[in-house]
Amino acid sequence: MLASPVMERHLYSIRMHASLGGRHLSGAEHLAPFEDLEELAAALVRRALTHPGGRAEQVTISIDPVVAETIRQSRLPDVRTVRVVDWEQGRQTALHWLKVAGVTESAAWTAMQAMQQGGAPDGTSMRGAMLVDVVSGERLELDHARGVRVSRMDLTLEAEQALRAALVSRNLDNPHVREALILAGKVLMTPGVVAELCWSDDPDYTAGYVAAPGFGYVRFPHLKPLGEGRGGRAFFFAREGFNLDQVVTFLEKEAVLFTRPGRFLRDMEAGE
Ligand code: AMP
Repeated sequence: MLASPVMERHLYSIRMHASLGGRHLSGAEHLAPFEDLEELAAALVRRALTHPGGRAEQVTISIDPVVAETIRQSRLPDVRTVRVVDWEQGRQTALHWLKVAGVTESAAWTAMQAMQQGGAPDGTSMRGAMLVDVVSGERLELDHARGVRVSRMDLTLEAEQALRAALVSRNLDNPHVREALILAGKVLMTPGVVAELCWSDDPDYTAGYVAAPGFGYVRFPHLKPLGEGRGGRAFFFAREGFNLDQVVTFLEKEAVLFTRPGRFLRDMEAGE
């Protein structure tokens, strides 16, 4: 999070990656001016060492300068909750929203099956996202274990305060929702993206979402059974005009700063 004014200041991307027993445990990041780096680094290390999934064994903090003129500013996606009674209904409803976004039923289904099985070739969660052909469901990313990691995105301090105020009143002000909104916001800016599907790898967190440029971020309180430790993300792309290098460079390297929250739309029932 960042106090404005933004653009005339030199910014840095600061990222934390933590692992335990050779497996990814936690990751988080910010875009920040030089004078905030020390405090943010301490907070990120603290987060890695107090993770509910165990105390990290390896923690890496990376800091890179970001050229201020290259930072894109945008608004977070609109947010809506669709109430579902259980994860089966959640998946059916998510499938419906993916179809509304333009994903074929078979591609959506194939991606859901892949995420359910862990996504990575060894049956565990991927570290990043799979890229999926919106028609055939074919995987387009080169490394099926790592996937593509979305990085270099954050909120301004004002946007964070406004977002948290809106989330608090809906009982949604938790890091899962805030960080997912920022990530989805960047994904929806990617050239050629049609939709995103996500559910968490945190066994205690069953919610997930479908996001698309046309309708924003639609969350479902249940997209997987409680206790399930496999999660994932699928970014759906139209094959026509798809350029893997361009997509990966945008998602992993280009900086995006959100300066305003999106709108909060009324909750819906699954069948509506
Ligand atoms: P989380 O919402 O943090 O539980 O993450 C759920 C899944 O999304 C993970 O298992 C990864 O497959 C994927 N994921 C997490 N962080 C990222 C990221 N920065 N970029 C792309 N995919 C991610």
